[in-house]
Amino acid sequence: MISKSQLAIELSRISSFSQPKIKLEQYITDSEIAAEILWQAYLEGDVHGKVIADLGAGTGVFSLGCVLLKAKRIYAVEKDGDALALAKNNINSRICSFVHADVKEFNKKVDTVIQNPPYGTRKRHADREFLIKSFGIADKVYSIHKISTARFIEKITKDYGFRIKKILKFKLPLKKSYPFHTKKTAKIEAGCWILEKQ
Ligand code: SAH
Repeated sequence: MISKSQLAIELSRISSFSQPKIKLEQYITDSEIAAEILWQAYLEGDVHGKVIADLGAGTGVFSLGCVLLKAKRIYAVEKDGDALALAKNNINSRICSFVHADVKEFNKKVDTVIQNPPYGTRKRHADREFLIKSFGIADKVYSIHKISTARFIEKITKDYGFRIKKILKFKLPLKKSYPFHTKKTAKIEAGCWILEKQ
């Protein structure tokens, strides 16, 4: 079985968005942080042999990690065809199905959802759509958000009959990928909420 550090190295090879789309809030998750989250999910028994949905898969960092950690099947759901084409190139595994769709339209039942949704800074409530979808299709959800939105996450989790099992906190480096970013890399306080059905 692959080690956590090998996983991080493999994930660092993922090629990034060539021209990220602002409206879709396309940011790639840093490979070390993605490895940390995936490793935790693996230890919780939510990856190996499981059916996973990677909602807003982008260039496929979480899907690739799930392939390497021997998931049974992965659905990489992404509405941007350019990102999905990159994900296909990055992954190349027959256990990964690439679904070109809005997450709203995806209705397969899965064991685990892993997602780094748009934070809703460009499109209001974009993360709400992702959370509601994930609560409808899985009993276990790994979802990345800004720490500043903790109260919103807490409330919606409760409203949909889920509970917060754990929050993995980290500083998410945002590379300067858009003209409106003034610093070369900014770090935002973020976390991965591990949510489970009650
Ligand atoms: N999961 C990747 C990408 C995160 S960025 C990573 O962690 O690196 C969020 C992604 O969600 C972008 O690729 C964006 O195109 C996609 N996205 C945004 N809104 C979406 C929607 N409604 N349905 C499907 N994908 C969406």
